[in-house]
Amino acid sequence: GKGDVHAEVVVLGSGPGGYTAAFRAADLGRKVVLIEKYPSLGGVCLNVGCIPSKALLHVAKVITEAEEMSSHGISFGKPKVDLDELRDFKNSVVGQLTGGLSGLAKGRKVEVVQGYGTFTGPNMIEVIGDGGRTNVSFDQCIIAAGSDPVNLPFIPHDDARVIDSTGALELTDIPKRMLVLGGGIIGLEMACVYDALGSKVSVVEFMDQLMPGADKDIVKPLHKRIEGRYENIWLKTRVTAVEAQKKGLRVTFENDKGESFDDTFDKVLVAVGRRPNGKLIDAEKAGVAVDDRGFIAVDNQQRTGVPHIFAIGDVVGQPMLAHKAVHEGKVAAEVAAGHKRFFDAQLIPSVAYTDPEVAWCGVTETQAKAQGIKYAKGVFPWAASGRSLSIGRSEGITKLLFDPEDDRVIGAGIVGTNAGDLISEVALAIEMGADAVDLGHTIHPHPTLSETVNFAAEMFEGTITDLM
Ligand code: FAD
Repeated sequence: GKGDVHAEVVVLGSGPGGYTAAFRAADLGRKVVLIEKYPSLGGVCLNVGCIPSKALLHVAKVITEAEEMSSHGISFGKPKVDLDELRDFKNSVVGQLTGGLSGLAKGRKVEVVQGYGTFTGPNMIEVIGDGGRTNVSFDQCIIAAGSDPVNLPFIPHDDARVIDSTGALELTDIPKRMLVLGGGIIGLEMACVYDALGSKVSVVEFMDQLMPGADKDIVKPLHKRIEGRYENIWLKTRVTAVEAQKKGLRVTFENDKGESFDDTFDKVLVAVGRRPNGKLIDAEKAGVAVDDRGFIAVDNQQRTGVPHIFAIGDVVGQPMLAHKAVHEGKVAAEVAAGHKRFFDAQLIPSVAYTDPEVAWCGVTETQAKAQGIKYAKGVFPWAASGRSLSIGRSEGITKLLFDPEDDRVIGAGIVGTNAGDLISEVALAIEMGADAVDLGHTIHPHPTLSETVNFAAEMFEGTITDLM
């Protein structure tokens, strides 16, 4: 064994939540130990999540834009895909970032202990790693154990043709026909990548819309576009069986009318959600409560029921997003250091980096209707945006929701190119308590897609009424 170490603050898990918390705690003068089972830091986000998926989505975008140039009089040949080089590019992006993290940890004297950690008591974690066993005793702990993909019981997950998002990012091949099981953000991003690389993609979703959680009108332009590119989009349909056969995976579906049908695919990507890792760390030995699903409940200072143990990121609940984990990581580290800090964010933006991108934050229209929240809206269709037309796309929408009492902006949904970047302006507006006049009277540069936020506010105010 490596012997024992003591940490003033130990962080379990090195994802965006964990490394942020560890670095912040070290910057505040604490002796920090960071425990990670994998040799590389960065968690899901850097290794098998946000970053590799975005590297591949960039490539997908270049491919489809090149394809569509033909309608502007510019033609390229069919793309030649060298999967090994593409994989190397993706891996190099990941490597640069994870390597950077190791450097940042060293620079702060954060001690990284490699191995799998489990609690053995309220002030002790036992780590089993390649180098043997290490007992880490601690004064305070921040649990950042993250989440893993959900498996389905009726699916042969041991068959190499059944993959999850991690498998999809490995890019072992480009299947001829691929089924994406689950029409959420992760499934649709991967669908976008494989479609661009040449797979015939089908998507099946149990709910009545893609990307449940986002407003239907915001998802519609994405749906319309991919409907034209993909083989099938089945809504209100569930998969009831997947059978591994020699010629492919035979999938049985059942729609909402109770009708069954089947089809055979070369690969099935299961993207039906993520399961928090709370049950896998013997949290009960530290007295930390974990619910049936594996989530750890925390208060608005990220404290579990045990005052010196905090939890952050995917393991504490939805939405499972990196920027939420990062924000919570800072709160936990600062509270642990005795600062008066709370998780009091008014919103956590959601973004699907599909083509077009779909982004929303604050109150959605669906949520407002369900909860009886009064709202008024301003909607600007991008067909009237000079910039959007200039880039050959017209399907976007910028929608702002306002409190009808005081005209403050309370929510936004944006679909279109770079929607994920555009949503930040509205996030700031909501945090600052800005109203329609603030957004409508701020001079936005022309011609930009960011103008659509300005225009949506003006549509609400009625200061522009005719489009074009
Ligand atoms: P994780 O990133 O899950 O990290 C947890 C870490 O803890 C892991 O490294 C794990 O190995 C380690 N660990 C767990 N248990 C132990 C243990 N007992 N001992 C030692 N180590 C342990 N979010 C976004 O905001 N934007 C995106 O674009 C985005 N894209 C995504 C794309 C994909 C394909 C996927 C799968 C996810 C994506 N996410 C995205 C979600 C994002 O990755 C997660 O929300 C984020 O990584 C959660 O961070 P975390 O710190 O809570 O935990």
